[in-house]
This record gives sequence, structure tokens and C-alpha cells, in this order.
Amino acid sequence: MKTLVPGKIEEYCLRHTTARDKLLRELEKYTQRHCADARMLIGPFEGALLAMLVCLTGARHILEIGAFTGYSALCMAEALPEDGAILSCDINPETSALARSFFDRSPHGRKIEIRLGPALETLTALPIAATFDFVFIDADKENYVNYYEAVLPRLRPGGLIVADNVLWSGRVLAPKSKDDRAVVAFNKHVRRDPRVECVMLPVRDGVSLIRKR
Ligand code: SAH
Ligand code: CA
Repeated sequence: MKTLVPGKIEEYCLRHTTARDKLLRELEKYTQRHCADARMLIGPFEGALLAMLVCLTGARHILEIGAFTGYSALCMAEALPEDGAILSCDINPETSALARSFFDRSPHGRKIEIRLGPALETLTALPIAATFDFVFIDADKENYVNYYEAVLPRLRPGGLIVADNVLWSGRVLAPKSKDDRAVVAFNKHVRRDPRVECVMLPVRDGVSLIRKR
């Protein structure tokens, strides 16, 4: 799993964090066994953080950008009320189908819809009236600023954007590749934006909490 936190400290944190349910453990194991890039999945510790944030914000309408095999969506769905809904975007039909097969085994799975296609196109195609109170950004780093700008007008005041991988394995300190620079640009963009308040947490690979004023 992708983390900057020392292994023993992360294990200790996890041991003192409410455990995720059995289906999530199974999904994590299945992804590790059958999918390349299984380390992209947020895992039980960040999953518990997301679920906690969904509860605390009282979110009902969630947008996720980057579903992969559905782990993060399922963590959030469990924390949503019965009438809550998650719209999750991804371009990969195989991992999305796998996600769906796990959602179908969960009592919370019907809260989640995966929409296939480039997330920016999905966002543009949404009706103007479609608004969200919680957004999780976790797809291609190059588009983080574009995703942020596309979702902010659809986020209710007081709503929360959670952005993953904002420390990018520490490469933000010495950016070299296009993706490195994209993450650095995103972090600067958010910090300078007077429309929001943000706090960057050194959790796993870096998680930013961005609240719309
Ligand atoms: N949130 C997931 C992990 C997401 S990994 C979890 O924690 O379990 C990133 C995902 O972004 C991949 O599944 C990839 O297919 C998707 N992705 C990459 N580029 C995309 C794009 N342009 N539009 C939508 N999804 C994209
Ligand atoms: Ca991620």
C-alpha cells in the first residue's frame, strides 16, 4: 500500500481504528491478487478516515473521481444514510465491473452508481442542478486542477473535497515528471484559492481536506 507513514506507526494506528467490514477486507485481498496497481486502493486506515468524514459532514450526495475496484466508494457508502448516493467516475470497464460485483453483495451497494468514461466528460454532462456535499478526488493527477474547478461550483457551501495522493510519495518536494508537477500545481492552486479553507494531512500518501466557504 502506498504510504509515507512508517510501517509500524501505520500498523499501530490501524490497530486502534475501527475495523472495516469483512466484504471490504475481501475486496482488498481480491484486488491485490488480481489487479495491477492494487496499491492504488486507499486501504482500511484511509477508508476509516473517509467514512468518518462522511459521517461528520452529514453528507448525502457524494461524487467520487476514480473508483478503481470500488474500495473507497464502499467505505463511504457504509457511512451514508439510507437515502444517500454516490456517483463514482472511472474509465476502466474491467475494474468497474469488479467493483459492481462487490457492491451487489453489500447492503450499501445500491447507493453507488459508477459512470464509465473520462471523468471530466461525465462532470460536464451532469445537469446544472446536480450538486454534491462531498467529493473524493482520486484519479489521474494531471487533471486534479480541472476536476477541482469542475466540482467546486457544484459543491454546496460548507461542503468538503477530499483529495488523495497530495504528497505523491514525497515527490512534491523535488518534482520531476509531469505528474509530480501536476500534484504540486494542484496543491498551490488550492492553497491560493480564497473560496476554500484547506488542511493537508500526512496520512498515507497525503490527504487534503478542502472545505468550501
Ligand atoms: N479511489 C480508489 C482508487 C482509484 S485509482 C480506491 O481507493 O479504491 C485511480 C482510478 O482513476 C483508476 O481506476 C483509473 O482507471 C481512474 N482514472 C484514471 N484516469 C481517469 C479519467 N480520466 N477519468 C476517470 N477515471 C480515471
Ligand atoms: Ca489514491
